[in-house]
Amino acid sequence: MTPTIELKPSARPLSDAERDAVLANPGFGRHFTDHMVVIKWTEGRGWHDGQLVPYAPLSLDPATMVLHYAQEIFEGLKAYRQPDGSVATFRPEKNARRFQASARRLGMPELPVETFIEACDALVKQDQGWVPAHGGEESLYLRPFMIATEVGLGVKPAGEYLFLVIASPAGAYFPGGVQPVSIWVSEDHVRAVPGGMGDAKTGGNYAASLLAQAEAAAEGCAQVCYLDAVERKWVEELGGMNLYFVYGDRIVTPSLTGSILEGVTRDSLLTVAADLGYTAEEGRISIDQWQADSESGALTEVFACGTAAVITPVGTVKRTGAAWQQSGGEPGPVTLKLREALLDIQRGTAEDKHGWMHEL
Ligand code: PMP
Repeated sequence: MTPTIELKPSARPLSDAERDAVLANPGFGRHFTDHMVVIKWTEGRGWHDGQLVPYAPLSLDPATMVLHYAQEIFEGLKAYRQPDGSVATFRPEKNARRFQASARRLGMPELPVETFIEACDALVKQDQGWVPAHGGEESLYLRPFMIATEVGLGVKPAGEYLFLVIASPAGAYFPGGVQPVSIWVSEDHVRAVPGGMGDAKTGGNYAASLLAQAEAAAEGCAQVCYLDAVERKWVEELGGMNLYFVYGDRIVTPSLTGSILEGVTRDSLLTVAADLGYTAEEGRISIDQWQADSESGALTEVFACGTAAVITPVGTVKRTGAAWQQSGGEPGPVTLKLREALLDIQRGTAEDKHGWMHEL
């Protein structure tokens, strides 16, 4: 059964001036809007009691299953202010379907696609004063997630869950202009294994990435690039972004192997790149080939992509015993062109040929 979300809005706790002060410098994931959506699922009953309520802490029994066995999944998508002042989200049904796939992998109930979208819409509509002005790269980031709320110890799929959506204003990822990111190629740690849950968006994958992330930081790098778990040879993705390799007019992204998260941005860029006349492909690239093609100049640019940063050029790449500067450490022209093309669709300044923008 699809619940209808009951609206129980509160008076907004911040004044307009206080909210606008936050919006002037929102950062990322630091401030949250006034409301949240909560929907319950109970075995035998399904989804019920959908509500839009004031943003508030959750009260959980210490034996709540998610706290012990990490049965949790989440999503991330953005709402953008459009030129006419309205608000639209980018491809929410892709996130809804990925959320269902994550739920299946973790033995959780699947939320209907229309309920996922209805929940996001209800929150954005209620808190639309938190959607930044049109024109820049600012947006309202939405974080739908689901946790196992049954109380008790013992490893099994829980019989009760909470689905929630919270929202956080997001500033421009690169306020001072697009800057290349530095990458540490982890040859000791993997993010995901064949048959594991690398293609699910679940907290455990991010917990597993923190040690490698600390090693990257110790190497002076901002992000980790993971290799496949079996041969430790094939480039998979970063901890929170997919990768693209630019060979002149041909762009290639690692194929979905089951241990890579299928990014909505990755998928969108396969289409946007083709629209712009590039050849866009999925394929396999080894770390040795990356290094050799970069050194020979055949590999002209590399970039990472995801909802948070849209597209980030890759600058310095470091692995054990070697380091190189991709594209001379500067953002390349293809990277910047694709970035603008996708952002133009998202902020409503280019034609939405593929029907990706979801108007509220
Ligand atoms: N890979 C991982 C591991 C991620 O966490 C993300 C962010 N969701 C991505 C790739 C990019 O996905 P998307 O384009 O849907 O944000």
